[in-house]
Amino acid sequence: MEPEHHEIVIVGGGFSGIGTTIALTRAGFDDVLVVDDADGPGGVWQWNTYPGVAVDIPSFSYQFSFAQGSQWTRSYAPGHELKAYAERCVDEYGIGGKFRFRTRVASATYADGRWRIETSTGPLTARWMIHAGGPLSQPKLPDIPGLDEFAGPSMHTSRWDHSIALDGKRVGIIGTGATAVQVIPEIAPVVERLTVFQRTPIWCLPKFDFPIPAIGRRALAVVPGAKALSRLASQAYVEATFPVLAHFHRFIPGTNAIEHAARQYLATQVHDAATRDRLTPRYALGCKRPSFHNSYLATFNRSNVDLETGSIEEITATGVRTADGVEHELDVLILATGFKVTDRDALPTYELIGPEGENLADRWDRTHLRSYQGVSTVGFPNYFTVFGPYGYNGASFFTLVENSAAHIVRVLREARRRDARTVEVTAAAQDAYMESVLARRGNQVFADPTCANANSYYFTKNGDVPFRASTTLEATWSSRRFPLSDYVFAP
Ligand code: NAP
Repeated sequence: MEPEHHEIVIVGGGFSGIGTTIALTRAGFDDVLVVDDADGPGGVWQWNTYPGVAVDIPSFSYQFSFAQGSQWTRSYAPGHELKAYAERCVDEYGIGGKFRFRTRVASATYADGRWRIETSTGPLTARWMIHAGGPLSQPKLPDIPGLDEFAGPSMHTSRWDHSIALDGKRVGIIGTGATAVQVIPEIAPVVERLTVFQRTPIWCLPKFDFPIPAIGRRALAVVPGAKALSRLASQAYVEATFPVLAHFHRFIPGTNAIEHAARQYLATQVHDAATRDRLTPRYALGCKRPSFHNSYLATFNRSNVDLETGSIEEITATGVRTADGVEHELDVLILATGFKVTDRDALPTYELIGPEGENLADRWDRTHLRSYQGVSTVGFPNYFTVFGPYGYNGASFFTLVENSAAHIVRVLREARRRDARTVEVTAAAQDAYMESVLARRGNQVFADPTCANANSYYFTKNGDVPFRASTTLEATWSSRRFPLSDYVFAP
């Protein structure tokens, strides 16, 4: 089959793919094809429809700076509003025709200045390939013996099956990460009995989640400066609660006070001392992503909710057996077990073979994750990533998308100006960048020895944490000001 050619192929139609396509279109790159295996745009917001799904950073930050909505019904918008926002961005920026859904990429191989991409709907070629897949798209099933033996319905949270009725059922949920924190309070009042299988407790903080009534939304839309002000306050809050606290942990006095406040909050929420103790994390706040919810902890006061902290030995046809030999009989099993983030088959999700025959996933599996600003990687010309290693500083994902897109557009504009067929980051630029990022590791919360108790997906199997240790301002500046001599442009 003759491959279909496009100047640019983007893999991933979530907010990364949408933001990058808008940036490219604005810069005059029109021959762009975005492929995605979902049924529509929005990425995780297409896939995640579980009860309680909502954004967990304020909506004023969780949106593009150039497309600030005034339609959010809550300060933390529910998932369906994010999905609708993705669809609206695609419509309003006239990029719908560039998307091809239900198309999964299997592999991409570089030769003669272009990528040949094998997909489930036929082969493609592209001069430039952009990976816009996010880190939370590949469901991770737990490696527990007997997983397939369970006779009742079971589902991963990111593939929620709404036809499975939970009311009046004995339901088990494995995992207590950010997803479970949202699901548990929603389903607890409906089910007959809910057993929560917790391996590692999560820090849970109150969420400043409030409804935005119609009049408030109207005011946001029409009052001059209202959007800008809410955005500024929200950005400052996000910056203070992640990048600053995590990456400059060593310099910030009183971080223990936040943990103390979180413990106090736990004490006000959970009545039973033993349950409270089991819900108390034994690692520094920030080693893994903390969660924000106003009713998660209190849900453990309910008489129909059990917190099970014994390790799971086996999943059987009728339920879950824990190491103490207890059989927990269940009608439905929910796997809130997260995603493959830095696993060999997730980074990227297809086989990517460079000009020397090297497979990127193999390299990253064998050695350490490395990149230049999270956007490009030595040995893989004409290939860019929106969310590459050491690119994201943990602030709003949208800021990352806009920064990476600005970086990519700048390189492609220069390639066009020079009529270059290939572009590759230099080893010196990548090494210097990595050196500067890694030099700051000791300042991060991740250097805290208690992180060993956190089981955090932030850490790779080598113990690296591939976050960009910088403020958002610095990341934004350098994504637009890096020397173009950091790339080799070849005719
Ligand atoms: P996660 O944070 O990786 O949590 C997975 C949970 O499953 C953990 O509690 C983990 O325990 C448990 N688990 C995994 N394998 C297990 C096993 N074999 N036995 C027992 N327990 C097991 O995944 P997530 O909750 O889906 O959240 C992932 C990320 O998605 C979040 O950090 C957040 O960035 C994002 N998220 C965002 C939103 C939002 O913005 N609205 C909502 C949900 C999620 P251990 O901790 O012991 O490994």
